[in-house]
Amino acid sequence: MPLIVQKFGGTSVADTQKILGAARKAIRAAQAGNQVVLVVSAMGKTTDHLIALAEELTDHPSSREMDMLMSSGEQVTIALMAIALESLGYKAVSMTGAQLGIKTDNSHMKARIRSISTDRMKKALGEGNIVIAAGFQGIDDNGDITTLGRGGSDTSAVALAAALGADECEIYTDVDGVYTTDPRLLPEARKVAQISYDEMLELASLGAGVMHSRSIEFAKKFGVAVHVRNSASDVPGTLIIETPESDTAVSGAAIEKQEARLTLVGVPDKPGIAMHLFSEIAEAKIPTDMIVQNVGQDDRTDISFTVPSADLPATLEVLQTVADEIGAEKVECQENVAKVSVVGLEMEQQGGVAKQMFRAISQQGINIDIITTSEIKISALVSRDDGLATLRAVHGAFGLEKAPKKIKSRPKQKSAPSLKRKLAESGVMDVSRLSGMEDILIETILLNRTESQISLANVPDIPGVAAEVFEKIAAVNIVVDMIVQSCGRNGKAIITFTVPRKSLEKTLEVTRKLAKKWKSDEPLYNPAIAILSVRGTGLRSHTELAYRMFKTLADSGINVNVVSTSERNIAITVDDASGEKGLKLLQKEFANEMM
Ligand code: ADP
Ligand code: ASP
Ligand code: MG
Repeated sequence: MPLIVQKFGGTSVADTQKILGAARKAIRAAQAGNQVVLVVSAMGKTTDHLIALAEELTDHPSSREMDMLMSSGEQVTIALMAIALESLGYKAVSMTGAQLGIKTDNSHMKARIRSISTDRMKKALGEGNIVIAAGFQGIDDNGDITTLGRGGSDTSAVALAAALGADECEIYTDVDGVYTTDPRLLPEARKVAQISYDEMLELASLGAGVMHSRSIEFAKKFGVAVHVRNSASDVPGTLIIETPESDTAVSGAAIEKQEARLTLVGVPDKPGIAMHLFSEIAEAKIPTDMIVQNVGQDDRTDISFTVPSADLPATLEVLQTVADEIGAEKVECQENVAKVSVVGLEMEQQGGVAKQMFRAISQQGINIDIITTSEIKISALVSRDDGLATLRAVHGAFGLEKAPKKIKSRPKQKSAPSLKRKLAESGVMDVSRLSGMEDILIETILLNRTESQISLANVPDIPGVAAEVFEKIAAVNIVVDMIVQSCGRNGKAIITFTVPRKSLEKTLEVTRKLAKKWKSDEPLYNPAIAILSVRGTGLRSHTELAYRMFKTLADSGINVNVVSTSERNIAITVDDASGEKGLKLLQKEFANEMM
């Protein structure tokens, strides 16, 4: 019998009428011959209210008790949903995380699922019940209730679908599907019919709150087809799958306003320092993004990165300790920032996405503090007040409001075997090889020795500078790969990027002219760098991964230059001479996680 998982978010179960509406959808699926598992969130804004209550008492509630408190929201909904179904004449049984057999680690408020035992659910389904599962919660080895992080019911739903081998996972919410950006922020946003796991994972991780990013890790790892749709209608929504039909250079844009920038100023420029910093941050399970390290001056460098605003106090604590230990000058932090990103699988093959994005932003007179890129995304950090205007400008620049045109000359690529197939072949599908369902899984580790690295230091920190650099380079048909711009100091910024070695001379010619015009420093360059990249799923959200890369290299005296992170790829540049050695070291370090 086919099995379907249906998840209803907070607004879709906000009152008893809506609960009845959701119950009717479940009944229809059951009448169509499916076994049905319903996953529900807390009603409406219940979770927010519960958090506010705790905050009335203290600024620092213990996270164990917060989990006890927050998980109560979902428990109310499952009971009401079961009562609703029974009132409509259907057999139903509600289950908490513990009753569902959802085992997690013990990191309260951001727990990861280790295993799901499906026996009890299967028995209840076999007896003709609709099973109603509490989203967002699990239980650790001590028997304590844990929660998966805000928005985590999506992850419960997809994880249950994976564990039960469901045929589909429907995510019912308050919009028609996944849009090119948040339709509540930009009314011109367009619903997309299909989107790939990689793009959705990246968008979700960069601020598209429609899906909890970790749910997409599950979907990709276990090949779960996810259908995001509106609980108030029957219109088809968005399918999240491995390979969508149409590809455009940019598939969506996202904004993250709840992010803060931190800078460690005046760090001694020695191997191992970044490693030390990020090991401490990884220890605290704080996800970092937009890591930029300035080219050293007077043997000192600055390291900047962003963290979710909620993690700012904890990060500041870590950073202050590290600053004292390593003799850094000071710690700076900026809270009023917003990160705007564009994401697209085809970006790699489409030179010029960067310049288009930077130009669109500069045309609004908006300055970019930090730029980071990866193969499938570009992010720009701007002041929070400029966030929405930046998002609108970028969304418009790529014509995301219009139905997509097919890319004309899409380079032929050998299609990679789906992750699900590869997993099945390597025997990982039963997760017996992994100690936990959410463990890191690495597909490959690559060494690229075809690039040069160029840095433009002391360029004016004003709108339009990055746009001009990448327009001039694109004008001579050079494809730029990794780009980072670090935040300005004394009105000056540093832009670093890589180009193919054969294009170095031409790039230097172009950039020397710009340096002269701006009276900035002569371009600094390294003619032969190596790029080491680790590719897999959910890499950025597994905070320890980047740290392990740094540590592995630093322990062997290899210095890391530029870092670029996405959920499916973490790349770093090192000296060419260290490339082969670095590759071997990383292969050894990650042998257990390789599929
Ligand atoms: P639920 O309670 O159902 O889980 P959420 O509030 O978590 O609902 O997610 C739905 C919301 O996500 C939408 O109301 C929308 O404002 C927001 N959102 C952000 N980015 C996107 C996007 N790219 N597409 C659709 N919705 C988005
Ligand atoms: N109720 C939880 C929250 O509000 C989980 C969820 O809705 O996904 O974050
Ligand atoms: Mg949600």
